[in-house]
This record gives sequence, structure tokens and C-alpha cells, in this order.
Amino acid sequence: MAEVDFKNILENLDQAVLVVNYDNRIVWANRYFCSLFNTNCEIIKGKSIYDFIPENKDTIAIKDYTYKITKFDDEYFSYFYLSIIDTQMEKVYSDFVSTVSHELRTPLTSIRGFADTMLSSFDRLDKNQIQKFLNIIKEQSNRLIKLVENLLSVSKIQVEQSNFVYKSINPKSQIEKVLDVIKNQYPSHAFEIKCAQDVQNILADENKFQQIMINLLDNAAKYSYERGAVTIYISNSAQKENFVSIKVEDHGVGINPENMSKIFEKFARIENHLTRKTQGSGLGLYIVKNLIEKMGGQIFVESSTVLPNSGSTFEVLLPASSYTNQSKKVLEDK
Ligand code: ADP
Repeated sequence: MAEVDFKNILENLDQAVLVVNYDNRIVWANRYFCSLFNTNCEIIKGKSIYDFIPENKDTIAIKDYTYKITKFDDEYFSYFYLSIIDTQMEKVYSDFVSTVSHELRTPLTSIRGFADTMLSSFDRLDKNQIQKFLNIIKEQSNRLIKLVENLLSVSKIQVEQSNFVYKSINPKSQIEKVLDVIKNQYPSHAFEIKCAQDVQNILADENKFQQIMINLLDNAAKYSYERGAVTIYISNSAQKENFVSIKVEDHGVGINPENMSKIFEKFARIENHLTRKTQGSGLGLYIVKNLIEKMGGQIFVESSTVLPNSGSTFEVLLPASSYTNQSKKVLEDK
């Protein structure tokens, strides 16, 4: 009994564990180890450990983290234990602190600066100048509100506290509502919706769906040039039956293939000449992906930086409301 419990603990450990025989062949690996190497825990058995871990090394870098390799031997087996080195965690933490403090300080400094100018020179400013300064204060306050909302969404995602209220919604009319807000922020961009006639409703949480679309459209405009075209295609998915596909296509700076896996991580801002000029906390796509997956959907991205303006297309697949099990459940509950 005790032995069974022990294996269970190792299996579910949040660190990678590997057991190899005298021949350096893998006898057993826990779930964490297999997911780290994107492999199957059965297929891995019998393979050489050196297909995964370098010989005579104390550390190994996998997916942005450095792991310390600890080895124990007994009479029959060697046990390997891979744990994330603290300095990496510290780096994640310090990235978080520097992103958030930068994102807080920049708008606060600007709000205070413009308020100070108005207070000290009120009599000398004309109506247009006052209006301009008040608009900047409003924009910067919106930026702060967006950051706080994003941070709250992230903490809710982490403690699994987001509440989803599912209902059948028309994706086109929701996107039109979101576009009204976005067009205001990016008046020089050309937004267009191309919607198939037969498109089904989706089963989703209305607010969360809007949050997803705001983030994707905001990025599409933010990482495009002045007057860039952003097109939203809505159709029933050709790849996945009973799913609706929503594509957001831009012709902006694009994303390098090597950065593709990072963009959905928390606080990940990828350097490009527009990220330097634009505002962001690196939380948008992390939230988008989490919300989509929690609603039973998927997100895909195609992007290129080869040609100028080759741009990016983010595709969201969400379940159609009439066919999903969730919709059946909603109807049964009524
Ligand atoms: P933020 O925009 O706040 O930096 P996101 O999580 O929304 O954070 O995006 C992460 C990174 O992905 C961005 O810093 C940017 O480099 C890249 N990115 C996201 N959307 C696009 C897009 N449409 N075109 C080019 N790059 C993008």
C-alpha cells in the first residue's frame, strides 16, 4: 500500500522524475517529465536517457527554464530528478515586477504631469489645449484600468475562479459591439467584418467573448502600421465540425517563428519595433488562450516576418451552440 502511494506521489509531482536501469535505459518517467519532452510515458520506456538528458551535465535548458539535474543511485536503478533552478523563478518574478511597475509608472507619470501643467498654467491655456490634456489623462486612466482588469483576470484564471455564464450568442453582433470601442481607439485603421451567411451562433460567455475579441483586435491594430487593414472572418469551421471559426487578420509586423510559443505566456512581450513604441503588459494573449480553452475552444496563429506587412492571423475556434454537449446541458437545466 505504502509503495503504491509513493508511486502515485511521484507520478503527480510538479517536478520531473525519471528511473533508468544499469544500461541507461528508461524504466519509468512521471507525467511531468513526459510533458516536458512532449512525449508519451509508455513510448519512452526502453529509450536511452541520453536521448533526453545530456551526459555529465548538472543542468539542462528546456522551454525557457533551466533545470538542475539531481541523480541518486541504488543497487538496481538510477533516479533522476529535474527541478527548476530558483534563479529562473526569480527572473520570472523580476520580469513581472518590472513589467507591472513600468506599466503603472508610465501612465501615472503622464497623468500627474498633465494635471500639474493644467493646475499651474490654467489661465494661460486655451480650450483646445485643455481638451487635449484631458483626453491624454482619460487615455492614460483607461490604460491603467485595462492593466488592473488584466491582472484581475490572470489571478482569477490562476485560482480557477472565473465564472462562465454560457448562452447562445451571435458572434458577428458581439464583434460589431467590440469594434465600436476599438475603432475609437484606432481611428486611422481600416476594420472590416466578413461573415458567412450560414454562420451558427456560439455557446460562450458574452463578457469573456468580448474580452477575447478586444485583446485580439487591439493587438491587430497595435502591431500594424498607420492605416493598416484588419479583417475579421467569421464562418463555420471547415476543419472542426460544429465549431465556429473567427479569424483576425492583420498586415502588421508579424511574429518570428521562434517566438511563436512564447506569445501565450504570462508577461511575455516580444521585442519588435512596435512593442517598443506601444503599451502592453504581455498578459493579453495569456488571458485570451485561457478563456478560449475554458470555453471548450482552441486558438491558432499563423504569422510571418519575411515580407514587410505579411502580418498575422489569429484563428479562434469556439463550439457552436446548437450541437455541443454544453448547450444540451444548458437546455436541460432550463
Ligand atoms: P502585449 O500586447 O501587452 O505585449 P500580448 O500577450 O497581447 O501582450 O501579446 C504578447 C506579444 O505577442 C506582444 O508583445 C507582441 O510582440 C506579440 N503579438 C501579439 N499579437 C500580435 C500581432 N497581431 N502581430 C504581431 N505581434 C503580436
